[in-house]
Amino acid sequence: CLRPHLWTQLRHGSSVVKRREFNKVMVANRGEIAIRVFRALTELNKTSVAIYSEQDKHSMHRLKADEAYLVGKGLPPVAAYLTIEQIIDTALKNNIDAIHPGYGFLSERADFAQACENAGIVFIGPSPDVMARMGDKVAARQAAIEAGVQVVPGTSGPISTADEAVEFAKTYGTPIILKAAYGGGGRGMRRVDKIEDVEEAFRRAYSEAQSAFGDGSLFVEKFVERPRHIEVQLLGDHHGNIVHLYERDCSVQRRHQKVVEIAPAPALPPGVREKILDDAIRLAKHVGYQNAGTVEFLVDQKGHHYFIEVNARLQVEHTVTEEVTGVDLVQAQIRVAEGKALEDLKLKQSTIQVNGAAIQCRLTTEDPARGFQPDSGRIEVFRSGEGMGIRLDSASAYAGSVITPHYDSLLVKVIASARSHHNAAAKLIRALKEFRIRGVKTNIPFLLNVLQHQSFTDAAVDTYFIDEHPELFA
Ligand code: ADP
Repeated sequence: CLRPHLWTQLRHGSSVVKRREFNKVMVANRGEIAIRVFRALTELNKTSVAIYSEQDKHSMHRLKADEAYLVGKGLPPVAAYLTIEQIIDTALKNNIDAIHPGYGFLSERADFAQACENAGIVFIGPSPDVMARMGDKVAARQAAIEAGVQVVPGTSGPISTADEAVEFAKTYGTPIILKAAYGGGGRGMRRVDKIEDVEEAFRRAYSEAQSAFGDGSLFVEKFVERPRHIEVQLLGDHHGNIVHLYERDCSVQRRHQKVVEIAPAPALPPGVREKILDDAIRLAKHVGYQNAGTVEFLVDQKGHHYFIEVNARLQVEHTVTEEVTGVDLVQAQIRVAEGKALEDLKLKQSTIQVNGAAIQCRLTTEDPARGFQPDSGRIEVFRSGEGMGIRLDSASAYAGSVITPHYDSLLVKVIASARSHHNAAAKLIRALKEFRIRGVKTNIPFLLNVLQHQSFTDAAVDTYFIDEHPELFA
C-alpha cells in the first residue's frame, strides 16, 4: 500500500476496520453513469474526476467533472476505458483516493480492483476475491448452493465437450440453455429445444464465447419456461452488515437484455418475495459481500425461484430502487467504501422501506424499424418529457449533441415514480410522448408500444413478452 498513512484504524468488535474520508474520487467510466456518480460526489462535497478517451473529448461527462484526464491516447474508443495501468497512473499522479467503476468496462474486473488496492487506492465495490468468485457464473452458482439457495438445475462445472451437454439434456430433459461461463449482458446464451440440436448448438456457443469473452467455457442449465426476472438490491458495509433494498422486476427483455425495469415487482406474492429477499441476504453473508450488488433470480409460473447470478457492481436499473426507497445508492457506496457502518448511514434493515412504485425505460438511439440498429449523428432538436415524478439520467441528451457510433446507444434513462405501478406507467407513457428528438432515430415508439400493451398494464409479463408480440416493433 503506497499511502497507508491516510487510513485511520478503528477497532470494531474484534476486528480492525480501516476508515478514511475521500477527498477526490475518479470515475473509471463515461456517459450517464459517470455523471450519476459525479452528482453524488458533489453532494458529498468531494472532488469529482473524469477520464475520457480521445473519441470522447467533447463528451458531457468530461465537462461535468471537476477535473478530467485523457487516457488511452491512440487506442480504439472502448479500449481507452480498459487501460488499467494508465488509469491507475493517472489516479496516483492526481492524488485520487478512490475509484468508482460504474457499470460495464472495468466494473467487474477483479484484476482492476486488485490493481487499485495494490496502488493504495480504494476500489468502490466488493473485494477482489469476491468479485472474482461472483464474476465466474459457475463459481457463483457453487456459492449459492453452499449457502442453501436453490439454483436452476445445471452442470456442476464448466464443460468443454458437446457430449457432456447431450448427457445433461438426456438426464434433465429439454429445453436447456447453454451459457458462457464468463458471459454477460445477455450475450453468450443459447436455448436448445431438441436433443438432436444440442451438439451443433454447443459448437456454435463455444466458439461465440471464445471470441466474445476470450474463454469458450460453457455450462448448461435447465431452461425455465416463462420465468420472471426478479433481482434483489444489496448493500454491505465493511463491518459485516448486509441489508437488502427490496427487489426489481426486469422481465421485459429483448434478447435477454433488459428494456424496462420496475420496483417493486408488481403482483409478486408476499411469501415469494420474502423467500427471495432472505436467499439474497444469505448468499451475500456467505461470501462476505461488501458494497452494492445484485442477486438475480428467475421465478417460474408456480412461484418457485432459482438463483441465476450475482452482479457485483451498481446496475443500470439502480435508479428505480432509489426512487422507491429514497436511498441514494451511489452515495451509500461511497460511504461504505470509506469504512462507514450501514447503521451510521441510517441504513438499518428495519428503516428501509418501499414507498410507491417506479419504472425505468432505457431510451436508446436505435431504430426499432430497422432491427434496432444503432443510429448516430447530431441531435438537431431535443425536448424531454418532464414534470412530476419524472427523473432523467443522461449524458448526451441535448440539442447539438453528437451521437457517435463508438459506445453503447443508451441516450437517457427515463424513470417515473408514483404511488402505484399503474400510475407510474401512466406518467412514463405521458413523459415519453412529450419527447421530441430530431436528428437521430430513437426507440421511443417501441417503448410506448411496450408500456401501453395490455399485458404490461396488467403487470402480467414474463421474459417471453417481447418475443411473443412482434407487433411491438411496428
Ligand atoms: P447475463 O449475465 O448475460 O445478463 P443472466 O444469467 O443474468 O445473463 O440471464 C439473463 C436473462 O437470460 C435472464 O433474465 C433470463 O431472461 C434469461 N435466462 C438466463 N438463464 C435462464 C434459464 N435457465 N432459463 C430461462 N431463461 C434464462
